[in-house]
Amino acid sequence: MNATSEPLNAFTVDVEDWVQSVLDAESPLTENFVANTHRILDLLDKHSTKATFFVLGLAAEKAPELVREIHGRGHEVQSHGFAHRHVHAQTPREFRDDVVKSKKLLEDLIGSPVCGYRAPAFSITERNLWALDVLVDAGFTFDSSINPAKTSRYGIAGAPRFPHRLRTQSGGELIEIPVASYRALGKTIPLGGGGYFRLFPIKMIDKTIKQLHAQGHPATIYTHPYEFNPNEIASLDRNVPLRLRLHQGLGRGRFADKIERLLANWRFGPLCDVIQALGDLPVHEHNRTPENLSRNQNYAIPT
Ligand SMILES: [Zn+2]
Repeated sequence: MNATSEPLNAFTVDVEDWVQSVLDAESPLTENFVANTHRILDLLDKHSTKATFFVLGLAAEKAPELVREIHGRGHEVQSHGFAHRHVHAQTPREFRDDVVKSKKLLEDLIGSPVCGYRAPAFSITERNLWALDVLVDAGFTFDSSINPAKTSRYGIAGAPRFPHRLRTQSGGELIEIPVASYRALGKTIPLGGGGYFRLFPIKMIDKTIKQLHAQGHPATIYTHPYEFNPNEIASLDRNVPLRLRLHQGLGRGRFADKIERLLANWRFGPLCDVIQALGDLPVHEHNRTPENLSRNQNYAIPT
């Protein structure tokens, strides 16, 4: 395959502040995410690449000019929800309020529709598939919240690894864009971003992209502003537990270099362009076993 016939990959950024999103949900956001996001914007400019930014509502409230700048520099602005509360920690009504509030705030800031969503920490799983109906009701047309690699924290084992049209429990439809994963020895490894992505050598990320391309599918990479700042955790004026410091600090030193090499070697674009290039997509319906339905029946979809 030559470079132009390879699928267009998606480059995505979840715009949030490390302290509030990872360390302490009750803490106010620090200013760090603004400078860190600028690092990404400059890197993308350097490689003439446009991306999708899933912006947290709290981040948009704190730095509205940053959201306008992301949009003004030609990138796609979508929603990462408002308060970074995991979806499974919310009732349907709370979730609806959270996503509607973030969508409206972003739309008011950029003057364009916001129709894509990514849940904090991929927290749409088998336990809360009702959330997909809430997204459809709220006017979202695509989602990137279901991680096909199952870990202790997120994911749905056996979920499709490739973009598809997802039929919700109420019969609605969303385009679902799973982040990149690698298949080996019967396992699905989450290599589209996060800890594994920071830890594994670039060769392994290249292999992941090649494996997806060989099957005709794009790779969706996800990043966070704080990953581009190797000194952030050390510079914080607060106690960060050692385990978290080690896990979260891992691979940050070389992260920007890794991303630069990916941007130089592969074609990336925003999700709207990737979806458009994909054309017709297969339909997938998550298993509606009686067990799954009863697990969800406590949650009436709010009106
Ligand atoms: Zn997040």
